[in-house]
Formats: sequence, C-alpha cells, structure tokens
Amino acid sequence: MNQILDKKFPYLSNFFKTAIDLKRLFHSLILYGSNNLIQYAMALEIARQLNCLGDRSENCSCRNCRWIRENKHPAVMTISKTDNKTDSSKTVISEEQVNNVLDTLINSSDYHRVFIFCDAEIKKLSQTEKEALEEFKMTGFSLPQENTGEKSWYPSGINTRCFSQVAANAMLKSIEEPASDVTFIFLTNNKNDLLQTIVSRSQAFCTADTKYIKYNIDFLRKYFSSYPVFKVENAIDFAQALLIYQTENELEPKYIIDCIQYYLTGLAKANFGNSILLEKIYKDINKTENSKKMLDSYIKEQLVFEDLAFYFAGK
Ligand SMILES: [Zn+2]
Repeated sequence: MNQILDKKFPYLSNFFKTAIDLKRLFHSLILYGSNNLIQYAMALEIARQLNCLGDRSENCSCRNCRWIRENKHPAVMTISKTDNKTDSSKTVISEEQVNNVLDTLINSSDYHRVFIFCDAEIKKLSQTEKEALEEFKMTGFSLPQENTGEKSWYPSGINTRCFSQVAANAMLKSIEEPASDVTFIFLTNNKNDLLQTIVSRSQAFCTADTKYIKYNIDFLRKYFSSYPVFKVENAIDFAQALLIYQTENELEPKYIIDCIQYYLTGLAKANFGNSILLEKIYKDINKTENSKKMLDSYIKEQLVFEDLAFYFAGK
C-alpha cells in the first residue's frame, strides 16, 4: 500500500489491501486510536486503493491517485465541523450536513465514494502535533485545507459532542443498506466515542500508535513500591498525580489505566508462587478493568482516577 503506513500498521495495511482485492471491505469502518492524523492518512489510502485506475502501487500516477494525494478528489470527502459544511454557523457535524452527504448518493457515480468523518480544527500545533504532521506528509497525502499562516488543519477523533445522536441516526439507514460503491470511515480515539448503533454496524480497527505500546510505569513506582501495602497518604494526591501525568504527556486516560495494569501483570509474573499475593493482584486488575468501563460510560477521568485511588488506599 504505502510504505509509511505499511511500516506503522503492517497488519491493517495487509488486511485492507486483501479486503479490497476480494471486494470484501465493509461499507462502514471505524479507525480508533490516539493519532488521528495517521488514521486520516490511512483513510485516504483506503480511498486511493478503492479508486485507483492503475495497479494501486504507491507511486501510481493515475488521475484518481493524483487527486486523492492532493486531497482534491470529488468523491473523497472529509466531513467535519470545519470541512464540507452546509451552515457556517454550526460548530458540530449537523444533521443537515449529514443529509447533504446522503443526498449526493442518490446520483450514481463513476467513483467509489469515500466519506471520512472526524472532528477537525484549524489551529496552532503543539510539538507532538507538528511531529505527527511531518509523518503524515511522508505518506504523500495532503490535508483537506491549506495551512493559513501559523495555523494548520488538524483532525481529532469524532465523539458524541461533535457528532450528535440526531446526525448519527440520520446515517444509520445508509450504513445498514449501503450503495455498493460507498465507504464511510469514522476516525475516533475510542470506538465508544461513537453511537453504539453505528459501532455495531461497522468494522472497527485499532490504529494504536506504536509509541503508546510502550507502557511507562516509572511514575507509578513511588506509589506501588510496598505493594500490596499502598504507599499513599492521601488518595486524592495519587489521583491528582495520575491526572497530571496524563495531561502533561497528552495521553488518553485509558493509557494510564493500561500502565497500572501493565505494572500489576508484571507483579503477577514475578510472584507466581505466592498464591495469596496473586489473588490480591488479580482482584486489583479486575478493579482496573472496572475503571476502564467507567471511562467507557463517559465518567470523567478525574472521578475514575479518584475512585481507583480510594480503592488502592483501602478506604
Ligand atoms: Zn492509481
């Protein structure tokens, strides 16, 4: 497919290529993970593979591949609160915007139409975002909007705030009974950020950013060093430390819970002969699973961290 994407997501790249070869690609795809810009490149690559008039190779210079690389293809559209809007006053993806998309499907097309749904902003980028943008450029694709001065178009994951239930519901029928030449791609941080009725009708793929696969547990050691006795004078301080670590490093709350789980599974491995301790560790891992469920039900991370901290502190 594309060298950068092949290297970053070898499994997914191969999966999409084969599914397109076999004409078995789902009509509604969800890409979830923390790096929405690389997901955006993946979505464009899927659109390119679906529309290529040549051999689908990375350097193909057919008209469709060229247009998609330039992000100017008439049948490959980005749908966000800043792209392809119908009403400039709207700060979310509106029902009207969705209906406008669906109306275009009434006419037949020579192209395979691809609609990429995400949240997006034109903003000044952070250092991490600048690095992500450099990586995106290496894939050969372009952003849907030109940069203006210091600011740049930057996507983020769609969620129920920017893509309301009404707008999402308007799409359900089209996802359920799609035209054969249409693919909807949703970019999100977490598939639970989308309406369940969309998730259940879509195929979801994790686009884990490789830097996130490494779990950092150093920030936890201080608290866990006397485990199972939990070294914390004040559970609130521990919860606060988790929250600060998360925000300062621009991480997802679930990543923090993953780090705790990683730490606990490490302890389990090291104490395999100690059945009493093992039981305690498994009980704690179950508790962290519960924390993830709380995050899935939109409970604020601060409350989830506090709940977990009070649990560990044994209060
Ligand atoms: Zn081509």
